[in-house]
Amino acid sequence: MTSDRLRVLLTRRWPEAAENYLAERYDVTHNREDTPMTADELARAFEAYDVICPTVSDNIDTDVIGAAPLRTRLLANFGVGFDHIDIAACKAAKIAVTNTPGVLTDATADLAMTLMLMAARRAGEGERELRDGRWTGWRPTHLMGRELSGKSLGLVGFGRIAQATAHRAHHGFGMKILYYSRSAATPEIERNLSAKRLDTLEDLLRQSDVTSLHVPGGAETKNMIGATEIASMKPGAILVNTARGGVIDHDVLAAALKSGALGAAGLDVYPAEPAVPPSLLALDKAVLLPHLGSATVETREAMGLRAAANVDAFASGSPLPDRIA
Ligand code: NAP
Repeated sequence: MTSDRLRVLLTRRWPEAAENYLAERYDVTHNREDTPMTADELARAFEAYDVICPTVSDNIDTDVIGAAPLRTRLLANFGVGFDHIDIAACKAAKIAVTNTPGVLTDATADLAMTLMLMAARRAGEGERELRDGRWTGWRPTHLMGRELSGKSLGLVGFGRIAQATAHRAHHGFGMKILYYSRSAATPEIERNLSAKRLDTLEDLLRQSDVTSLHVPGGAETKNMIGATEIASMKPGAILVNTARGGVIDHDVLAAALKSGALGAAGLDVYPAEPAVPPSLLALDKAVLLPHLGSATVETREAMGLRAAANVDAFASGSPLPDRIA
């Protein structure tokens, strides 16, 4: 396949440098309006493009992939998470799938720390109070939060982003690191982060002052944090989620925040984005960000170029560097 004939679709706007990189090499269709593509538009794209570069706002399921003769041979996803893509259906249709691991690790770990600090220090509440003109001035008991120093941070999943978060929390904030993951990290990683692996999720939740979620989304982790798990958390504990919205049962979370069982939550992701569970919108104890984990200029550009590197490999018939299917 010659690269000048490769038809590539970007389903959303990308940072300019990454869009230009691809446009110089391939026959690229851009989405200048940046509106999410409908299921119908996506389905038609599978008949018209060699490569589709989707992202988390595209739901690529069996209906979209369809049974018609497909032109698409590669989905070069913009993002590390791929729970919006039906991987089994792609395998069945002989469509390769790649993602962009690593380049967004630091930005997302930074955002986990942002949420942790905002939740612990009541930063959202304070900003809303000030902007609403309700601030009456400094006083010794005003908006007292909690400190992170010396507290236990429980990480659920212990991959790239969890370890980068552990690094910040331990070396920057003096937190004690606990983790729960199906497989253990190497002794060297555990030593560097002073991290202790716990046998069960329940053990982790019982011992953590702050819990931060870093598992992939999908069927296996859906509602992993539900009624039993939230009941296991320490009274007043903080829950942070930069993973995927489906990992938490948000009705249970809202009830626990309302009753005071949980101290606060910091969330970046939601089960049916861009919808945000209304039960959370009303709660001061919930810090709610609009899926900003990887949203830095540096990282978004790197994600685009990383996806482009996979398109290049596909075009030249080389092994795909970030192949997940
Ligand atoms: P990663 O390096 O693959 O880490 C995932 C971790 O989860 C691994 O430690 C994995 O270890 C563990 N895990 C997987 N399934 C599990 C299960 N059922 N129970 C317990 N642990 C499980 O991925 P990453 O780069 O850190 O990214 C993690 C997730 O963050 C992504 O999948 C994505 O959804 C999300 N993310 C969000 C943003 C954002 O903007 N908010 C940005 C980037 C990424 P084992 O398989 O050994 O258990």
